[in-house]
Amino acid sequence: MSSTPTKSSLSQASRGTIQRWSQTLIPTVRQAPSDAEMPSHIFMIRAGFIRQVGAGIYNYLPLAWRSLRKVSEIVREEMDAAGASELLMPAFQPMELYAETKRDVDYGDLLFTLEDRHGRKVALGPTHEEVITSLMCGALTSYKQFPLNLYQIQTKFRDEFRPRAGLLRGREFIMKDAYSFHLDLEGEAGLNATYDKMHQAYTNIFTRCGLDFSAVEAEAGPIGGSASHEFMVNCAAGEDTILVCPESGYAANVEKAEIGKRAWSFDVAPEGELVKHHTPNMPGIHMVAEHLGTTPSLMLKSIVLQTLEESPRWVVAVVRGDHEVNESKVRDAIGFAVQLAPEKEARAAGFVIGYVSPKTVDTIEMTMVVDPDALGSGSWATGADEMDHHVTGFNWSREMSNAIGNDKIKIADIRNAEAGDPSPRADGVFLEARKGIEVGHIFKLGTKYSEAIGLSVLNKDQKKQAIIMGCYGIGVSRTLAACIEMSHDDNGIIWPAAIAPFHVHIVVIKPKEPEVQAAVGALSDELAEHGIDVLIDDRAERPGPKFKDADLIGLPIRLTISPKTLEENGVEFKLRTDDAKGSMHPRDTVVQRCVEILSAVMDSGG
Ligand code: ATP
Ligand code: MG
Repeated sequence: MSSTPTKSSLSQASRGTIQRWSQTLIPTVRQAPSDAEMPSHIFMIRAGFIRQVGAGIYNYLPLAWRSLRKVSEIVREEMDAAGASELLMPAFQPMELYAETKRDVDYGDLLFTLEDRHGRKVALGPTHEEVITSLMCGALTSYKQFPLNLYQIQTKFRDEFRPRAGLLRGREFIMKDAYSFHLDLEGEAGLNATYDKMHQAYTNIFTRCGLDFSAVEAEAGPIGGSASHEFMVNCAAGEDTILVCPESGYAANVEKAEIGKRAWSFDVAPEGELVKHHTPNMPGIHMVAEHLGTTPSLMLKSIVLQTLEESPRWVVAVVRGDHEVNESKVRDAIGFAVQLAPEKEARAAGFVIGYVSPKTVDTIEMTMVVDPDALGSGSWATGADEMDHHVTGFNWSREMSNAIGNDKIKIADIRNAEAGDPSPRADGVFLEARKGIEVGHIFKLGTKYSEAIGLSVLNKDQKKQAIIMGCYGIGVSRTLAACIEMSHDDNGIIWPAAIAPFHVHIVVIKPKEPEVQAAVGALSDELAEHGIDVLIDDRAERPGPKFKDADLIGLPIRLTISPKTLEENGVEFKLRTDDAKGSMHPRDTVVQRCVEILSAVMDSGG
């Protein structure tokens, strides 16, 4: 197991690349388009990394492509070191494959579909579970072939409702996706061992990319337990909310986060009579609360669910009005997967949707689960189980004595966690919210795909066995954008050396002067010999705009050569992270200084 990352060091073996600005395409601009709001989007356009083709579709220009290749190379090195091997599958996928796994329905509008000239429907791959599982049907024939872990770095398509923020959420984007195959969960060849290796490989990859990230527990899916982790770049502008326990280090996304023990009791004294109110035409709990002179946190929300079985059963989940029911937690509490009940069926069964109260447990056959916080008051507002009506003064022990006496109510953590909730891992400590960008996701799939597609082999005992799978994704293009979100200032990008398009930016003043040209040629050659990638700004521009562009593009080191620096036998040296102007450095030791600085930051994962 490759527990330590392969170091991102300057390549001793291969020469660095030297690129002249005049011979490539770096269309820097002063202004980003007005729809660009996130720093990564703004700077990637301003610094000439990307150009939009259509909504969520981009050209990757030479600078972006160089960085994307560097990220991809780090991904390859770590995946290979963890025992995976690379292949390439097509973007086009026959629709019949999706019918087998029902993802044609589950993916919904996110799936790009089209028809070929023969009227056959195809999808543009959002990921490749179906394709690789059916590939394996012919390729895996013996139990001796396990475990196997295959990956690709490939273009993915998702018809995102709101493509935004440049490469952060595209409709066409680059992903590394890996799939592993096993006969067992445990043991050296089992899914759990490969999952742990992938967890470590991802940690290595994002460390080498210079990212500040956290691995957080995510919604587990079919296997349950700690079966899924998301890798989140810590960044205030991120879309995803992560809850962390400052004491124990526990971190999970809002859907997954457990809530620590909460005290509860049915016996809270009532505060008055149960009173019915006419509440017509009030969409939303806030309007009802206002009308009743209360707040959503003093209301009960009763959500009607169904078990996902052939003959579905009713489940009613009761949470406080300001909380959200979490279907996975309901599943864990009652032992069956659930979904929101179709409204028509629920009405036919007697639920007055929009006005349901916990009292329905007295009249309808169901399982009722209640969140502890929905018991914290003696007087609640809730639905009246009657069209256009709510009640106030609802008291659990008074109104629900029949159900409570007959053990018909289960109490469990069934809501999404929030900042301020008790930590599940440390007493007296409370969860805190952080924002993040999901750059990677690892997942124990179990047999979902192999069963749907019919992937099995004969095991040691000559018994047919469905294959256990795991899948592991990294948003390669999103990683680049996330890096910029995390690392920039007002003037532009600040690249970590390992994924910067070039390491050194040589600004040439008076590039036409022969002695300047000779000095630049010798310096860039010497840098390249040490494995350093060099961008030479040889444009006939004034120094001011060239320095501005250097800050915008954000390479780690800027060297300036001019007739004046030559006179002093030196080179002006400036780190991108330095606020001050550059300072003179003797020519004969400047390459050594570059090597030392770049090696040091790359060794420490930056
Ligand atoms: P999100 O919740 O952000 O929509 P997801 O959970 O649907 O992402 P996965 O199916 O887990 O995404 O895909 C694996 C990885 O691919 C994600 O962790 C993310 O880094 C990347 N990714 C997913 N959707 C996009 C997109 N529209 N643009 C860029 N990268 C994406
Ligand atoms: Mg994900």
